[in-house]
This record gives sequence, C-alpha cells and structure tokens, in this order.
Amino acid sequence: MMNGRHLLFLLVVPWVALPASAQQFARDSSFILLVVPESDTTTTSSAVYRLSASTNPGSKVTVNDKSFRVYPSGAFVGLLELNVEDNPFTIVSTNEAGESTSKSFFIIRSKPLETTPSDTLAIEDAMLEPKSDMWLGEGDLLEVQIKGTPNCVATFLGGIVMHEVPKSDAYGLEGVYRGSYKVARTDTLTNQPITFRLEGNDGKVVTSKSRAKISFKPQDLPLVGVTKGERVYLDVGLGEDRLGGAKLSFMQQGIKLAITGKAAGRYRVKLAESQEAWIPEEQVDLQPPGARLPYSLTGSWSVSGDARFDVVSINLSEKLPFSSFQEVDPTRINIDVYGAVSNSNMITQQLTTKEIKNVYYTQIAKQQFRITIELNHKQLWGYDIRYRGNTLTIRVKHQPERLKLSSLTIVLDAGHGGTNRGALGSTGALEKDVAFAIMKHLKTQLEGRGAKVVLTRTDDTNPSPLERLKKVWSADADILVSVHANSVGLATNPEDVQGTATFYKHVCFRPLSLCVLKQVLKTGLASFGNVGSFNFGLVSPTELPNVLIETAFISHPEDEMKLLDDEFRATLAKRVADGIQDFLDLSEE
Ligand SMILES: [Zn+2]
Repeated sequence: MMNGRHLLFLLVVPWVALPASAQQFARDSSFILLVVPESDTTTTSSAVYRLSASTNPGSKVTVNDKSFRVYPSGAFVGLLELNVEDNPFTIVSTNEAGESTSKSFFIIRSKPLETTPSDTLAIEDAMLEPKSDMWLGEGDLLEVQIKGTPNCVATFLGGIVMHEVPKSDAYGLEGVYRGSYKVARTDTLTNQPITFRLEGNDGKVVTSKSRAKISFKPQDLPLVGVTKGERVYLDVGLGEDRLGGAKLSFMQQGIKLAITGKAAGRYRVKLAESQEAWIPEEQVDLQPPGARLPYSLTGSWSVSGDARFDVVSINLSEKLPFSSFQEVDPTRINIDVYGAVSNSNMITQQLTTKEIKNVYYTQIAKQQFRITIELNHKQLWGYDIRYRGNTLTIRVKHQPERLKLSSLTIVLDAGHGGTNRGALGSTGALEKDVAFAIMKHLKTQLEGRGAKVVLTRTDDTNPSPLERLKKVWSADADILVSVHANSVGLATNPEDVQGTATFYKHVCFRPLSLCVLKQVLKTGLASFGNVGSFNFGLVSPTELPNVLIETAFISHPEDEMKLLDDEFRATLAKRVADGIQDFLDLSEE
C-alpha cells in the first residue's frame, strides 16, 4: 500500500508550483493526502498528535466520525487525542458530487512506565543514570538513578546508599532510587560501569551495571585540549534542543583549553574561576597529561583603521579561548579572553580609525580579561575575532559610506533544500520550496533597488550551515537575510498558531529584525513576534547585521494558502525589502 510519504512524493515532483498540482489532482479524482502523521503507523509517547491533511476543496471530512473544517485549499487539521496503545483512525472525505474516499492510519501511544511489581526483585534499564560516559574531577558529583522494586535497599559504588524518592518526584512511580557521590582527591576509577545493588527484605540481591562508563580523574584533570575544525563552538551548558545547546562562542582551530571533565559527549572547559563551558569531544585534540594550562599575559595593543575595518590587535603568548557580547545605548562590543592576565601598559590608538571611538580593558576576574570597544555609530555593522599567529585580532566593520541599497551587498538564504524539506503544509507545501520562491522575489526586489545580491543556494540543494556561512564571508556582504516558514510541533493543533516572526541572536542586530517585522505585518499576516537570543547557526555570525524571517506558519491552513500564493509571496518580499530600507534609514539617524 502506498503510504502518505510516497503519495506526497508523487504529488510534488512532477509539478513545480504546488497549488497547481493540488488543484489539478483535485479535479482528477477524490483524494486524501495525509501529511502528518507522516506514515500509516506512527508511535509516540505523547497523549495527542497533530493531524495535517488535505482533500478535494469543498468536501466534507470526518475523522473517526468527528467533523473537521475543510479550508478552501482542501486542508483540514486538528489535534488527535490518543489512548494508551492502539489508536486506529479513519478519515472519510465526501466530495461535492457525493463520492466518498477514505484513508486509515494508526497511532500507537507507548505505555507509560509503571512501578516495578513488588513480587519480583529487579533493576530495570529504564531511567538508569548516568546515561553517557563521564570524567569527573575532585569535588565533582556523580549523580545516579535506578528504577526497580520498591521498598528495597539500593546501593552503588560498593556500598553507598541510594534513597527511594517520593512518587511525586518520580513521575508518579515507586521504586525510583537516587544517590550521589562527591569525588575525592585520592579516588581513581578508569572507564568503568557503575554497579548497582538492590537488596530485598528477604535478603535476596540483584545487581545491574550502567551502560555508561565513568572515570574519576582527580589526579589528571585539568587536561589541556586544543581546538580543531573550521568553526568550533562552546556551549553554555549541557542543554539540548532541536537546534543544539545554547552557544557561548564560535572560534577557530588551535585554541588551547583547560578540560576539567566530560559528560554527554562533551568536554567541560574551565574558562575562568567561576565560568565553564562545554565543547563537543570531536572538536578537541587532547594533549598528554602534564601540558601547560592555557595562560598568557597580555602584551602591547594597537588600534588602527583601513579602508573597510578598524582593527584592534593584542599580543598574547598563546591562543586563548574568547567570547563576545554586544551592548546598545551606547553601542559597545565586549570580548572576554579567558586565561589572560593584563600586562598591557600601553594602548596605542591611531587616528585612522573610523568606527572605534575608544578601547579599554578590565580584568574582570583572575583569568578573565575583558576588552571593551566603544563605537562611533549607533548601529554596529559587524565584527570578527580571529588569531593571526598568537595575536588576537578584532576587526570592526565600518558603517557603509552610503546607506543606500544600491551600494550594498546582501546575502539571501533560502532555508533547507534538497532532502531537507523543512516544515510541512497540509496540502503538501514544503518549507524549502516556499522559502526559495520568496527568496527569489526578494532578490528581484533588492536588485531592482540596485543592491548586489548573493545567494547561499541557487537550486534545490541543502548546503551545510558552514557552507552557507562561507558564502556570506566570501561575499564580504553588508546584510544577511534568511527566509524560512514556521510550523507547530507534533503535539500542537495547527489551527492554534499562525503569523509572522523575525529572529535575531545579537542585540545590536535587533533593529534590522524589528524593521523587517513591522513591514511584513503590513501584508496582513498575524504577528507571532520578534524573537531574540535565537540559537540558530545562520543568525550566529557577528560579522554583519542579520535576520531570520519565519514568514508564516506553513502548518496553519490560512498561512499555508498565503505562502502558496505567488502574488502574496511577491508582496511579502517587497515588504521585506522595505524593512531593510527602513533599517538603513534608521541607521542614518
Ligand atoms: Zn526552517
């Protein structure tokens, strides 16, 4: 039987314009296109599941005998409520001629965990922690958890007692035990699983081992690591979301780090006395024990300007990690260099600078040296931080001489592409196609106003974030605009969320995202809002003002119809171009 995904594939490929394809199909015969769930049998642990589907416009639709609203595009959406285990659904669509079509699919809601029966003595695999390999140093806590038979005595590491936690703290389950151990200076443990022991009231014992392997390395830590790879990053914590953990900094290769532990596939990096970060294992070459920890006195500085950049150079004896943040009112860039201690007695500022008003430093903490750069203009036009040899070099871009589109280079980035379809609309619209179509209109708009436009993708392919960024860098561009369409997740009713939104990460680039949002709202789209601190690769560059536009919710049938309407896409693109123009006008003030 043909499943939803294959049907979608057949529908989309032969025609370029999606609405035409859907309408053409609609005229040919009765159909039901199931977009979400994406297959005929889906497993979830959630109590609800998104339904996004479409049929012949004008039809009447029921799902398990409950009526659904059919939009003019033929879309129908909702949130399906699930019982535990099997949930059969049947969609029946009856078209205007009275002909019915049906489609059945299945959602299996997995059983929630249950308390281990008290008549068997067991430690289950579920909920066992630690989940991933760890290295711990002196004073670090090893925190463990098991789920097993309630009311027993649980121990780990050869006798350390674990406590059975109240049901209210354990998802309503009995028999969840937790314990912790603080690593002492003399402890050694090399790559071993943790053994758990559970003893019943009758004296019977079961044991179980963690899959994760643990090392106690108080004698060896900190170790020294050196970054490798083209665009290395530090995560703030061990948090994960769909876009990865929140990023503290992007850096180059060859930077020396003090490694104080390991968890969840990442090394813990000590930056300063009370500041740490995490870096993926594969971005680090570990040095043999005994290597010198990262440390440098800061040497002499120079501040000068060339045709396009002002440049701050600070001599260090080795490449140390850094992070930067921006401030507005007044506009400032702050760069923290970790492991650096001031020995700078002189900062020579040449009169050739255009953008830098003043620079100074603060020794924030023992190992945290902060460089502050005050700017002449209200708007920051970007900066990059790189080592040249061991000289930390911060290049601050000048405000363009003419704040006119006709003298600027703008990079346009259509999200997703190729096998990365992005978000899905109920009639089969794909985010990658919609984003590309809007991007092309925006290109026409901007070129019509004299701008030079560079594209991160020119066809239905999916360059990596780094490949896209390289296009931005090599274009020496002034502004970056990334075009996407938004979607709800799998546990939200698509009808509940719609509208347009703009996203930024760095505060100095917020004005661009606000100007674009205000203009796009004139299209009549609802406002989802202006979103800051957005953790996404293509809004992370500090090199130029950039904005990501989630044009509308492709998951909402009304928004989807707009996104599929080429006239609307052209209007939307015109508004984005107007927003960029507003930003230029604002920067002129
Ligand atoms: Zn997207």
